[in-house]
Amino acid sequence: MSKDQEGALFPIEDGNYKMDAEPVVRIGIVLEEDKKEELRFQVPSVGYLLEETGTDVLADSEVIVRCAGDKITLYDLDGGILSQDLKRVRIVPPAAARPEKAGDGVLVRGIVSGRGFHWSKEIDQTLSDVLEFLPRGNKLILVNEVPLETYLVGTITGEMSGECPIEFMKAQAVAARSWLLGQTKHPHPGEPFIWCNDDDCQRYQGTGGWSDRAVQAVSECRGEVLITESKRYCDARYSKNTGGISEDAGSVWGDPIEGLESRVDAPEGSEVQRFFPVTEENLEEYITGDWLKNTDAFASPNVVEEETITRYLGRVDEPDRYFRWTRKLTQNSLRRSLRQRGGLTDLEAVMELRPGKRGKSGRLEELHVSYRASSGEEKRHTIKREFNIRAAMDVTFLYSSAFLMRPKYGREGELEEVTLHGAGWGHGAGLCQIGALGRALKGQDYRTILMHYYSNVKLERIYD
Ligand SMILES: [Zn+2]
Repeated sequence: MSKDQEGALFPIEDGNYKMDAEPVVRIGIVLEEDKKEELRFQVPSVGYLLEETGTDVLADSEVIVRCAGDKITLYDLDGGILSQDLKRVRIVPPAAARPEKAGDGVLVRGIVSGRGFHWSKEIDQTLSDVLEFLPRGNKLILVNEVPLETYLVGTITGEMSGECPIEFMKAQAVAARSWLLGQTKHPHPGEPFIWCNDDDCQRYQGTGGWSDRAVQAVSECRGEVLITESKRYCDARYSKNTGGISEDAGSVWGDPIEGLESRVDAPEGSEVQRFFPVTEENLEEYITGDWLKNTDAFASPNVVEEETITRYLGRVDEPDRYFRWTRKLTQNSLRRSLRQRGGLTDLEAVMELRPGKRGKSGRLEELHVSYRASSGEEKRHTIKREFNIRAAMDVTFLYSSAFLMRPKYGREGELEEVTLHGAGWGHGAGLCQIGALGRALKGQDYRTILMHYYSNVKLERIYD
């Protein structure tokens, strides 16, 4: 094992990336931060064994889980106690009960999706395989233990819809599988699960959005993973919409990631090429120019029409214009977000916002803020990283940091408001979901799609 593989969740020894069998993964569904003292779930007619007692079977019933301290009690809907003083609750379906279609499994109510983002909401979800409830400081944690391939069907239909073209879904499944295996750091250290169900990991929503096509897509690429030149599982990150040019991983996260390099996401000879790389000089034309009307960029509304996009989006996504978007931010809203999420607690008034370094897709790596502090003093601060910029500028989170600013100043020279004209949704590195969808709609197969978004990788089946 090489040194930088030491922390890998799935370390590769001696360059051998094959696995003996499909792994089982533990996904956090309800986290401590969701602050749930009580959860409700509905068990289908197939009986689930309550593992802690070894004998109790739950079937065809609605159950309330409550925790107090480090103990869990299960109630029926009338308040009758089903089981109490449990340190954890694992409910396990019979081995033969494999999920096959939408809605198979246990229905859990009120699961948070989009934690901390502007699209955050609670939805009911059906989860297959093993459910594990754990108490922590009077809050419940719910973990779903599920075979990787089953998890992937729930991920590709959570990230996007089960109605997408099959070649898109296969590309998305391979990227999701590679990402999961390719993590070198525990995404949630100290937690009883490894990955969570949300956008900071991958959006997994159980079986609720399953379609025959999604099941078929995952089975047709079963066990297939992107392997990098140095024989690692590719950390195949992806985002919703690059805006036409994808970003270098190094620009987004500070350190490069093997296989994730900035690329133009358009056919050869496309006009998008002339904006590569996006700079302060060509930014305005790139984001607002007339050329956009007829652009052939795969992530553009000319390829994936806005009218049809809702069909292809995940259930919790907002249908909106994010290939190009506009957002007006007032002095008041900027003050609020820069204080709350930008860490500038002493900010009294924003005086000026200036762009700093940009990545090749036009995404800001740095944003300079000049402001008047509550002490009256004029201060300067630089926000670094696209994620922090998106969080700090807008309490509901900006779509991307690829934006230009048109400020309006008041009589005293203070900033009154700023209009942002932006491109894309998300960090922009790796696969572009809308661009990949556009490519699939244009007839590209999943291999071609993946080889565009990830450089110098090969596709390998690592288990049968
Ligand atoms: Zn996570």
